[in-house]
Amino acid sequence: MQNDKTVLEDLKVVLKDKGMKYTEQRAVILQILLNIDDHLNAEEVHRIVKEKYPEQNIGIATVYRTLNFLEDVNLISSISFGKDGKKYEGNVTKEHHDHIICTSCGKIVEFFDEDIEKRQEDIANKNGFKITDHTMQIFGICQKCQEN
Ligand SMILES: [Zn+2]
Ligand SMILES: [Zn+2]
Repeated sequence: MQNDKTVLEDLKVVLKDKGMKYTEQRAVILQILLNIDDHLNAEEVHRIVKEKYPEQNIGIATVYRTLNFLEDVNLISSISFGKDGKKYEGNVTKEHHDHIICTSCGKIVEFFDEDIEKRQEDIANKNGFKITDHTMQIFGICQKCQEN
C-alpha cells in the first residue's frame, strides 16, 4: 500500500516516462479516486471535479481521456458492466479485493475470500503459471432490487 503522496510521485514518473506533462488536471482526477472509498463512473468523477475544483475548469472529455490514461498506466482500475458503463477506483492505495456487482442498480460490494485466492493460486500452479494479476467479478441482483 502506498499513500497519496507517493502515488502522485508515481504519476509524475509515469508522465515523464511517456513524455507527457504533469498537469494539475491529471493530479486532481487521480486524487479524487484516491480519496474516495467508492467506485465512480466518469460522470460522477466530473461532478466532483466541478464541485471541489471549479477553478480547474475540466470538461467531461478530459475526464474520460484522463481516466483511460490512468488505467493504462495502472494507477486506477475499472469495473465494466451494464448501463453505468465503467466505474473506476484507485489501485495502488487499496488492498487487493474482488467485487460483486448488481446488474440492476449498479451497487458494488467489495470482498476478499482467502479460499478463492488460494484456489486461483492452485489453478495457476497446476498450469505452470505465475499469477501477475486477476479479476474476479460476480454479477447478480442485490437484495433491494430483488424486493422491488
Ligand atoms: Zn441492485
Ligand atoms: Zn473495489
